[in-house]
Amino acid sequence: MEEGNLDENTLYLGDYLVSPGESAVWELKIARLPSGTRIKMPIYVFRSHKPGPKILLSGGLHGDETNGIEIVRRLIKSRYLSDLECGSVVAVPIMNVFGFLNFSRSVPDGKDVNRSFPGRRSGSLASLTAWNLAQKIIPAVDYIVDFHTGGASRTNYPQVRFTTGDEKSKELSHLFAAPLSLPSAPIKGSLRWYAGSLGKSVLVYEGGESMRNDEHVIEEGINGVLRLMSGLNMTMHPVTLPDKSYRLSGSSWIRAPKSGMFRPFKSSGDAVAAGETMGIINDPFNAYEALVKAPKSGHILGHNNISLVHRGDALFHLGIEE
Ligand SMILES: [Zn+2]
Repeated sequence: MEEGNLDENTLYLGDYLVSPGESAVWELKIARLPSGTRIKMPIYVFRSHKPGPKILLSGGLHGDETNGIEIVRRLIKSRYLSDLECGSVVAVPIMNVFGFLNFSRSVPDGKDVNRSFPGRRSGSLASLTAWNLAQKIIPAVDYIVDFHTGGASRTNYPQVRFTTGDEKSKELSHLFAAPLSLPSAPIKGSLRWYAGSLGKSVLVYEGGESMRNDEHVIEEGINGVLRLMSGLNMTMHPVTLPDKSYRLSGSSWIRAPKSGMFRPFKSSGDAVAAGETMGIINDPFNAYEALVKAPKSGHILGHNNISLVHRGDALFHLGIEE
C-alpha cells in the first residue's frame, strides 16, 4: 500500500480513507464474470474515535465454507461493531466471491486463493484476488481472524489455530477461548503466512464442514470474536464465558488401517483415551474388519464423514492436550 497508514489512528484500505468514528462500506472491484457482470467484494469498516487495535474478520476465502460467512454477517448486523469503545473492525463476509457464486472452495479455474498470496495484479483470478487483499486490506490491520471449515467430507469441532512461535497470536487465542485451540505452522501462500510475514497476528477459526451451516459452530465463532474484542477493551457489552476451553499442543491424523466401509464411533469434540476404539472398517462382504484405535489420549479436532475409505485415508484429526 503506497499511502501507508500515516499514524496510529489513520485507516486506509488502498487509497480509501475511513476516518475515526466513521462506519463505511467499500466495494472493492475485483474483476468481471464472462457475462460482463462486475464482481465486487463488499468491505465493512467500523471505527471508534479512540485509537485501538485494528482487526480484520474474514469469511469465505474458500467460497463454499459458509459458516464463516454467516459468522461475519451476523457480527456486522449486531450492535457490537457499531459502538466500539476503541479501535477498528474491518469485516469481509466473502473474500472469494467467485468461489461463493460457484459453491466452490476455489475460483473457476480451480486455483485456491488461500495458496496464492501475495498474488499478482496481472495474475489469474486467484492471484488477482489475493493481490487485492494483500495490497489493500491486510496492511491496514493489526490482527486477523480468518474463518474456515473442514473441506470435502471432513467436519471440524470449533477451534482456533494460532501460529507456532508467534506469542501474540497465542495470547489472542486465549482471549478468543474457542472450545479447542492449538498451534500450527502456516502454509506457504496462505493469507496467514503472508500476513505473518508483515508482522500481523492471525487466528484461523475452523468449524463445521463446507456447504453446511452449523449453529453451534456459528455461535462459538461469534462468541469467540466478542471475547477477543472484550479482552482487547474494544467492547463493553457483556460476553458469553466459554463452557470449557482446551489448549492443545499439537495434532496428528489417525488414518485408515484397511480399505473398506468406515463407521465412526466417536466424533469431533469427543475426548478419547489411548487405545480406545474410535471406529471400525469392514469390507462389504464380511471377509475382514479392522478396529480404528486411538494411538494416544486427546480431543478430536475433526473427523471424516465419508462411508468408503482407502487404507491410509485420514479419519480423525486428534489434538493432544498441553
Ligand atoms: Zn478453508
